[in-house]
Amino acid sequence: MEWLGLQFVAELPASGQILLDCSHNPLLVLVAYLVACAASFATLDMAERVVHAEDPGSRRIWRWIGATCLAGGIWAMHFISMLAFQTPIDIQYDLGVTLFSLLIALLASWLAMHTLSEVQPSALHCLKTACVIGLGIAGMHYVGMAAMKSSATAYYQPGLFALSVLIAIGASFAALWVARYLSEGSGVAHQLLKYSAALILGAGIISMHFTGMAALDLVLPEGALAASGGDTGHLQLGLTVALIILLILGSAISAALADKKLQNKENDLRRVNALLSQLDQARMSLQQAANYDALTNLTNRRGFNQLFAEKLSQKTSEGGMLAVMFLDIDHFKRINDSLGHDAGDALLKVIAQHIKSSVRSHEDVVARFGGDEFCILISLRDREEARGMAQRIMHKMKEPIELAGRRMVMTTSIGISLFPEDGTTCEELLKHADLALYQSKGAGRNGLHFFNSSLKTRASFELQLEEELRSALRQDHALMLYYQPIFELKTGRVTKLEALIRWQHPVHGLLTPDRFIGIAENNGLIAELDNWVLRRACRDLGELSRHGCAELKIAWNCSPLNLAREELAEEIEHALHTAGVAPERLELEVTENALMGNIANTLVLLRQIRALGVSLSIDDFGTGYSSLAYLKRLPLNTLKIDRSFILDIPTATADMEIVQAIIVMAHTLHLQVVTEGVESLEQYEFLERSGCDFIQGYLLSRPVPLDELRAVLDEINQRKPVLGVNPLSLARDTFAPASLDPSLKSLAPHAGASIVRPIR
Ligand code: C2E
Ligand code: MG
Ligand code: MG
Repeated sequence: MEWLGLQFVAELPASGQILLDCSHNPLLVLVAYLVACAASFATLDMAERVVHAEDPGSRRIWRWIGATCLAGGIWAMHFISMLAFQTPIDIQYDLGVTLFSLLIALLASWLAMHTLSEVQPSALHCLKTACVIGLGIAGMHYVGMAAMKSSATAYYQPGLFALSVLIAIGASFAALWVARYLSEGSGVAHQLLKYSAALILGAGIISMHFTGMAALDLVLPEGALAASGGDTGHLQLGLTVALIILLILGSAISAALADKKLQNKENDLRRVNALLSQLDQARMSLQQAANYDALTNLTNRRGFNQLFAEKLSQKTSEGGMLAVMFLDIDHFKRINDSLGHDAGDALLKVIAQHIKSSVRSHEDVVARFGGDEFCILISLRDREEARGMAQRIMHKMKEPIELAGRRMVMTTSIGISLFPEDGTTCEELLKHADLALYQSKGAGRNGLHFFNSSLKTRASFELQLEEELRSALRQDHALMLYYQPIFELKTGRVTKLEALIRWQHPVHGLLTPDRFIGIAENNGLIAELDNWVLRRACRDLGELSRHGCAELKIAWNCSPLNLAREELAEEIEHALHTAGVAPERLELEVTENALMGNIANTLVLLRQIRALGVSLSIDDFGTGYSSLAYLKRLPLNTLKIDRSFILDIPTATADMEIVQAIIVMAHTLHLQVVTEGVESLEQYEFLERSGCDFIQGYLLSRPVPLDELRAVLDEINQRKPVLGVNPLSLARDTFAPASLDPSLKSLAPHAGASIVRPIR
């Protein structure tokens, strides 16, 4: 078989031919091997680069550089090996065919680079590609051999020829396979693996060449003279070519190294940037958590203080006015207590939205200080602007809110202080806005107040009152109990008394509880105070027994805060025991909302108290949010209808219907009904008609001290109705203003107007 003038598989001519004796220059063979190794190393390096390059453009460039290095390397190896080939005849090379062989090398190398730069190609894929590349290399070699022009004919031994092709394929496969392991990893071991792979591949390539050369027999016709091989310049040329190709390969490897370093730097930079932005985010979320309220997403106290300080220093230097507005949601605690904290939280969110929508979004700062306390900072020109905004908020707040299946209408109390007239520091302005808020609450809530200097006096007055109350409790002086009769309609007698605390203050005179219960509650004195009342009431029960009133019961008021104390039942038992009084003569009055707080714990405590024999009464009924379901679970005896339902009877028909409904409901639950705040005969008649069990109010008597009680009771009981007399006329006869004590007459029927309801 002849291909490009080369004799493959053809038998050597039997006679008339001279077999040329050829040899190789060992130095150039070594140089060729080095070049093959360098080309292998460069190719593996480029393949690694291609795998790691992120940009498709640079991947393409590295692939071409790699292909050029491999092709150049193999071709140079071939060229140098051919220069190392020493024959006794002259050999010329055909340029066109030589360049064609280079083109084949280039194509095979490009294919090799393409597969080398794939991440983890399969074994089968490697094998297929290795066959093509191997054939390409072999093709290049034998085309290169075909470029050889001499008087001799080239014959190839088929076995060695086939072996050379197999070696080419094997070397290609080895290169592709090693590259799979080189694509990942770094460090010395990785580098060593790459060097070893380059040496093995170089050996593979050179082996292929010399196996091909071993397969070659050059034959001359007998008689033709073998001219001496002019190999004098071959060594020099071979070394020069080797130097040039090594320089090219070296530059390519250096460029790859530089690119790798650059990319590593870029990656480092990207990592640092990512870290920095993560840090930035973390810092921002920390700041968010530190300065914002998680529930409403409003600024919290800390964030507000920062903004406030900034705005204040700006206004101080540039001039201008600021308003600090404190907002407190009226009776918010009732919502929390009766509907639970989740409902309370939901309500706070809606309220926060209401407030935000009422202010100028960019200029004003709205903050939540905790609980139901909100604070707003406004830049303004005059105080009327602040008033306008406060009124807008109050108006917005009255929009009904759907919550837990109910429609609520909330109101708010607002206190305002102004910069610079009410203060020049943050602390001062906040304190003064708080004082103004306090005044709004004191004035019946749902209102707004500006700070004025007299409030300061009031605040210090309260502080002083707290001190004095502490000492009054400690020294057991100045505090006293007044008793208000509770009249039983069925028997026509006073069967119960309500114990109501009074404080005989040396300067301010007789103080009613609304002046100091709040102070006691806010300053941890309430348990002590209620305990004092309990002990005194029990002592007075003993006193009453000794004076012929052994049947009388005393109702004792207990603060909601006190109801949260587990030791309360023991304290009651102890007080009763010490005074030697039967527990049935004591009744505990607790407000509706106090019961709704922590219903589970309260239930346990109330059952303990009931187990002692003490009765339980629910006070101010109708002002809270208790449900029938709750009432059913509580071990109650009595229900006291709040005075506010009685106030406008008989003019308010709706109130009358409510009172009648409450009475029917209470009776259904087997509860007795007391109506408090009864001041007029009409109210009395209506309640009697409606089936109320007890009445309490100024119509009968105001609360009086114990030593005056005897006379009051006698007077009321003297008018005890004769059985069979019409209760209506009885009431008229018995309690007609003309028959009242002169001191009481002046109070009926609307004396209650002068009594301010306590704020709890
Ligand atoms: P409360 O338990 O609802 O007591 C009824 C209040 O209504 C009493 O006010 C009483 O004087 C007043 N009142 C009674 N009849 C009439 C009337 O016909 N017209 C008007 N306008 N008012 C009437 P007081 O004594 O000022 O007590 C106010 C509240 O202070 C009480 O409301 C009770 O909740 C609380 N309180 C009184 N004493 C104590 C106590 O010892 N401990 C605790 N924790 N709270 C107490
Ligand atoms: Mg009461
Ligand atoms: Mg009451």
